[in-house]
Amino acid sequence: MNLIKSKIPRKREFRIDEIRNDFPILQRLVNGKPLVYLDNAATTQKPDFVIEAIKHYYDFENANIHRGLHFLSEVATEAYETARLKVKEFLNALSASEIIFVRGTTEAINLIASTMEKSKRLNPGDEVIITNMEHHANIVPWQLICGEEGIKLRVIPITDSGELILDDFENMFNEKTKLVSVVQVSNTLGTINPVEKIISIAHKHNVPVLLDGAQAVSHQKIDVQKLDCDFYSFSGHKLYGPTGIGVLYGKTHLLDSLPPYQGGGDMIRTVTFEKTTFNDLPHKFEAGTPNIVGAIGLAIAINYLNAFDLQDIIQHENKLLEYATKELSKIDGLKIIGTAKDKAPVISFVIDGIHPYDIGTLLNSDGIAIRTGHHCTQPIMDRFKISATARASFAFYNTQQEIDILINSLNKTIEILK
Ligand code: PLP
Repeated sequence: MNLIKSKIPRKREFRIDEIRNDFPILQRLVNGKPLVYLDNAATTQKPDFVIEAIKHYYDFENANIHRGLHFLSEVATEAYETARLKVKEFLNALSASEIIFVRGTTEAINLIASTMEKSKRLNPGDEVIITNMEHHANIVPWQLICGEEGIKLRVIPITDSGELILDDFENMFNEKTKLVSVVQVSNTLGTINPVEKIISIAHKHNVPVLLDGAQAVSHQKIDVQKLDCDFYSFSGHKLYGPTGIGVLYGKTHLLDSLPPYQGGGDMIRTVTFEKTTFNDLPHKFEAGTPNIVGAIGLAIAINYLNAFDLQDIIQHENKLLEYATKELSKIDGLKIIGTAKDKAPVISFVIDGIHPYDIGTLLNSDGIAIRTGHHCTQPIMDRFKISATARASFAFYNTQQEIDILINSLNKTIEILK
């Protein structure tokens, strides 16, 4: 039995109570109160559909892949490769060999940085265009390559509302520009960036584009062919799947032109002590035993999501965003950081005279999980001249009632701390 092919749920109406029941963790108490989980930009919770599939895999199908002729190895290999096909459909890639399984968005970006350096597509002094709202995962990998001289990062600035200022973008290109690497949705500001426009401008200059889709995949339809991006990256754990699995998509001709990232089993064709020849895509980039169950869990999460109409999910999340924005704005001294017109359900805020850590700690005592800190986006903190924010981020299993609990707890917190 192929788990991914057989575990396809029937089409479902968007019924929030039923959806919440799919997620066992949402039923638990924290500090004696029902958990209100509003840290979905950090990681999403997992439906029992995914959890059970992982258990089933270990109970009945576990083996190493691509190597054995025995029954279980064939079952596991088929499941892993079916997972690749599922991701190919999810992103609408042209071919399954354009889907590389990695640990997550971070590893995907590191893979591109490292292999572009190795193949001298990126040389000391070359330029990569990013934005002021990148996660550190799309800043630091570029700083780790090309030795002392390094890569020059050209940074697209942002407005006070957290939108990209693209006026000067065209002028950033020169003969040293080798890549545009931008976040599709900001994990801190919630801004949905106009990536179609960015891609079309970059392509006019013959520069490829890598998209960091970590925060986009759970909130919108991704079609890499329509976007015409050259590379796309995301993490399974932000899409209701397991941790430790993610995806790098790349156009075939570009992936073909890059050398292997790591060496080891599976990525080779022949090995002698003198010389090794490499396997074809996608295996060339998947050295060693991969996260087999992670890939399967991710594919099952995609199956789970496919049972819903994506428009229902988007509509529900937008309502949560709108309601939370309205209610938070009523709180005296509270300022929302990131007020772009086009936003994902992520709200960062600061409150006059109260440190975000204190907000987070007191909300936690009411069972509410929000994020506090710089959210791995220190340049955004510098841009807004703050050191940290509190951040509530929503998933499709959250409710308006949970936002009311957040607001009540925040009001109580302010009274205690002021
Ligand atoms: N990019 C963005 C926008 C993110 O929000 C995150 C994680 O929060 C990452 C990259 C890194 O993802 P991961 O830690 O799963 O590799």
